[in-house]
Order: sequence, then C-alpha cells, then structure tokens
Amino acid sequence: MHPYIAKTLDTVKKRNNSEPIFLQAVGEVLTTLDPMLEEHPEIADLNLLERMCEPERQLIFRVVWKGDDGNVHVTRGFRIEFSSVLGPYKGGLRFQPVVNMGVMKFLGFEQVFKNSLTGLNIGGGKGGAEFDPHGKSDDEMMRFCQAFMSELYRHIGAQRDVPAGDMGVGAREIGYLFGQYKRLTNRYELGVLTGKGVGWGGSQARTEATGYGVIYFAQEMLNAAGDDLKGKRAVVSGAGNVATYAIKKLQDMGAKVVACSDSTGTLYHEEGLDVSTIKHLAEVERKHIDAYLAVHKDAVFRPNTKVWNVPCDVAFPCATQNELDGDDARVLIDNDVRLVCEGANMPCTPEAMLAFREAGVLFGPAKAANAGGVAVSALEMQQNAGLERWTFQQVDEELHKIMRGIFTQCTHCAKKYSTPTDYVTGANIAGFLRVAQAMVSHGLI
Ligand code: GLU
Repeated sequence: MHPYIAKTLDTVKKRNNSEPIFLQAVGEVLTTLDPMLEEHPEIADLNLLERMCEPERQLIFRVVWKGDDGNVHVTRGFRIEFSSVLGPYKGGLRFQPVVNMGVMKFLGFEQVFKNSLTGLNIGGGKGGAEFDPHGKSDDEMMRFCQAFMSELYRHIGAQRDVPAGDMGVGAREIGYLFGQYKRLTNRYELGVLTGKGVGWGGSQARTEATGYGVIYFAQEMLNAAGDDLKGKRAVVSGAGNVATYAIKKLQDMGAKVVACSDSTGTLYHEEGLDVSTIKHLAEVERKHIDAYLAVHKDAVFRPNTKVWNVPCDVAFPCATQNELDGDDARVLIDNDVRLVCEGANMPCTPEAMLAFREAGVLFGPAKAANAGGVAVSALEMQQNAGLERWTFQQVDEELHKIMRGIFTQCTHCAKKYSTPTDYVTGANIAGFLRVAQAMVSHGLI
C-alpha cells in the first residue's frame, strides 16, 4: 500500500474509532486508489484523502414530538454535510432506529463519490433520525416530520443542501417535510427537497429511478460480457422502493424474479413474483411481505432466512448495509451466480466482495449501480430551476443515458488502473478523480 494511503487510513481510524461502519466505507475506497497515486502527486501534496474523509459539517439536533399516546418524545436528528465541492450537498434522509453518527457518515461519504459519478453538479450529504416509522399513525408521521424540519430548515436550501428520501422516508414524508419548510420560511422553494409528488414539483420516474438504474447498470455489465438478462433467474433482497422497481425492470427485461425479502424473512414464488402485489404492500398497506400469501397461495414465506439461499443467475442486494456476508457469497458462488449488483448502499461486506472477485463473478458496486436515484433527483432540481416538467419517457431516457455514462467511466478506469471488469476500482477511482480535481481548483478550503 502507498505510504500516504496507509498514513491517512491510520489518521482516519484514530479520529473515528467508535464508528466501524464509516471506517469500512473509507477503507473500501482508499485501498483501491493505490494505482493512481504516483500519477497524481497533488493528492498527497494537498492531503486530499484526509480532507475527503472529514465531513465539512456535522449537525446533530434534538427533535421533540408528541406521540398518539400523548407522550412527549425526544429523538436525535442528523445531517452530515460531507462535501460541497461539486454542488450543493445532496443526499437522502433515513428514518430508522439504528441510525447513528457512524451510519450517517458512512452514507454521506458514499454519497460524495456516487454523486460525482453521475457527472451532475451535486455534492454529497446524508441525514436522518433514530426513529422507527413502523407502527406510527399518519398523524404521528406528520408531527415527527414537522418537528424534524423545525430545526433542519435553517440548514437547507436549493443552492445549499437538498435532502431527499431514503429508508423510512418516502413521498408522504417528503410532503410533510416540504409543507413545514414552506410554512417556516414563507417560500415555495421547490428545489429544497427532491422526491416530491409529481403533482407539485416532483419528477416523473423519481420513484422508479434507483431500482431501474440498478438494472440498467447490470445490463451494461452483462452486455459487455456478451450476455444479457433475458431468461435469467434473479433474486432481489428487500421489498421497499429500490427492490420493487428493480424487480419490475428485471421482469421488463425478460428475467424471472423468484424471491425477495424483508426484515422478517424471504418470499419465494417459483412462477415469478407479482410485482404489483409487492408494490401495494410496500406503498399502500405498509405491511410485511408474508401478506403476499393472502393473494398468492402457491408462494412460500420462509421466516428469518436470507434470500441468498435461493439458487439464481443474478442477485441484487437492495435492502441494507452488510446484508450479504462472506458465507452468503459462498452460497451464491456454489450455486453458480453470474452477476451480483448492489442496489442498497454497501450491502456486501469486504469478505463477500473479495469472494466474488476471486470467483470471477461480475460485481456492480453500489456507488455506481444505485446512483440512478440521486441522478433523477438532480434532474428534478433541474426541472424545478427551469420551471419545466418532463415526461416519464424523457426522464427515463436521461436516466438510462446517465447509467451508461457511469458504466463507461467505471470501465475506463477499471481498464486503466486494474482489470477490465474490476468495476469496484473503476467506480472508486472515477468518482474520486472528479472530486479531487474540483478540490484542487477550489484551493485550500
Ligand atoms: N437516498 C438515495 C441515495 O442513497 C437518494 C438520494 C437523493 O435523491 O438525494 O442515493
């Protein structure tokens, strides 16, 4: 390892030793940058790596809200403004009980490189709250979103920091957040949030974008290997927004998706999943996937199991971080998996990634493969700024073009600095270089 990388890793470890998930994300990127350090002495000279590993600003704030039970609750809210070198901070809000500073920083760090890969002018950020949306009434969700925005509003803005949704934050929550922002500021500032409803400033295809983008990226990887998705047997973990639209696009492209999952277990349907039922459960009924059996009696629900035990040609981890470990990878490899493409953020552990590489499995890293969501968020900002409304087809075509562009950059850097299909190194280096060059241009700040 280049001594400058080793030294930076050491410094970052000391500074963040209570946040292993953040260190995992940093380690995963920094250890792949070796091949270009000699060629770019300014990286070490200007200490770019250490600068990139320290967020520009980290906000922790108190959120006070009243539950339906009449109790007053105190929740911790976060916003990590990681990097504004390529544009306003941009990234989602995650409402989940396991959210903490380490999780926020890992997601913010990933977002910087992901957003860079889109080629659009968006910096990186992430936020959220240690809050469990499960079992909350609509009224409670509204009160929580209003309380959350009562602090966040002073930090965000169309030219400053533009949050969107992530786990636990969908169109309903974005609506409540926007309403409170508007009330507090007396400004109808559409560009302050993305993922808005299509009737009031949101973009067509934003809901579909992350899932569709993952499949467009996978298709590029297969095409480059002289193959495609037609007739492939697929499994997708998760049953939320990303998973739902990944399943839909896989089916559109002729693959057969036989399993998906949620935190309670795996849903297996040999004849192929019925995506409209999954979508309805996720978006309307907000129920766990075992409810699918009420509609499809021939499906099977396996409680407390992972989806990776189901034999498949192509696998898409679209649930959450570190959901696919070394053992899971070996099961998939034993079942002759051909491609694994990440829809969630950092769903594969380093051990799993290594196992896939050694086995020659095509691997699409999250930063590249799941960038479609934030890319369409940037298109939403563009439409808002120009007072425009694009059609679904226009946005989808633009998304497809952006995903192809990301694939081209990954391939270019993979070939130049590693092996032709090392998309992990390709994505990290391509994402990194754009950020690094802009940092050099902006001087020491
Ligand atoms: N939460 C999504 C992500 O992880 C989207 C962020 C956005 O649209 O700003 O990339």
